[in-house]
Amino acid sequence: MGTLRRMMRALAGWGDPVSRDLSRSGDLFVARFRLGLLVLLAFVPVTTSLANPRQIENWLGIATIAVALAFAVWFERLAARAVPPPWLGMATSQFDVAVISLGFVSFIMAGRPIVASNSLVHYTMYFIALAGTGLRYDPRVCLAAGGAAFVQYAAIVTWVGVYEPQVWTESTVYGVFQWDSQWSRLQLIAVATIIHAAVVVRSRAFWLNSMRDQLTGLFNRGFFDDSYARLMAGDGAMPFTVAVIDLDHFKHVNDRYGHAAGDDALRFVAGHLKESFRENDVIARYGGEEFAVLLQTDRASAIARLDAWRAALHASARIPRLSASVGAASLPEDGTGRALIDTADRRLYAAKAAGRNRLVADDPEAA
Ligand code: GH3
Ligand code: MG
Ligand code: MG
Repeated sequence: MGTLRRMMRALAGWGDPVSRDLSRSGDLFVARFRLGLLVLLAFVPVTTSLANPRQIENWLGIATIAVALAFAVWFERLAARAVPPPWLGMATSQFDVAVISLGFVSFIMAGRPIVASNSLVHYTMYFIALAGTGLRYDPRVCLAAGGAAFVQYAAIVTWVGVYEPQVWTESTVYGVFQWDSQWSRLQLIAVATIIHAAVVVRSRAFWLNSMRDQLTGLFNRGFFDDSYARLMAGDGAMPFTVAVIDLDHFKHVNDRYGHAAGDDALRFVAGHLKESFRENDVIARYGGEEFAVLLQTDRASAIARLDAWRAALHASARIPRLSASVGAASLPEDGTGRALIDTADRRLYAAKAAGRNRLVADDPEAA
């Protein structure tokens, strides 16, 4: 059940700050691209209005682009925030598809339904919007935007085919209306949607894999350092404790029982850590037989839980027997920034020097 929930969450890309980070850069890129494109598009009605100020369509065009630009600026500002709203990718990809569909509607209203059903250029815009959904790294966003494009385009061409009889005979550069070519266009939208979603699912898997340590399945040091930096840059108000853990006399384990047994012991410790800490605590393999934990809670309960973990590891009946030394430091009590990890590291050495299998969370001079 827990695994299923984790998988769903990873797939959804919502809720956890890491996935949000990944989609954030994509959102920002798309937001700026959209803004630039609209500024370019605005030139057409503006220049034609200046040349022909009495034509009402041109002013309507300007008004439409002005509204779209206002949205585009707002989206860009939201995407540029340190923590953009979680709905941004979904909302903006739906916006893009809807704007393209509204373009088709405007052709129908302007009395040119054959342009709506047969223009290749305008129809291709859907694919640009769908390609942009891939940059949000959320398969739900891809599927929802592709689904919306499919439904909206189907509604538009059905309207044209049923209520605009002139399209069956009209002979223009656009040709005549044909159901089977419209059906092919809808199939292409569906295929593009599925491919984008599949690419996103696969690249998410690669990306999630790159944060993991292969031996233990815990997060790796790179991910831990990123999480640490993110917590530090965050709301400041949130207290947390960082712990550096080093197994005692681990070289003996390897020397005496062999390297494979050493690897088994490392996996055992990793499993023990995963069982003992909460889902929103970051547990990482920091290096060889060193682990690091970020606990997002107040200092007293963080230290109590770490020491309980240490005692439980020592008590676990296992051959070879294992124990660990732990150095801990807390925000805000022990300082801030990188210095906090250095403090935890120094306390780890103090724990080793004091005889191992213990936790040190204070400096000796302060005690
Ligand atoms: P101390 O109590 O002072 O920490 O002693 P120690 O022997 O644990 O310390 P040291 O850092 O000297 O040794 C760490 C050992 O951990 C050395 C290395 O062989 C072992 N080690 C590191 N990574 C791995 C690994 O991936 N697999 C195995 N089997 N052993 C590893
Ligand atoms: Mg070590
Ligand atoms: Mg060690």
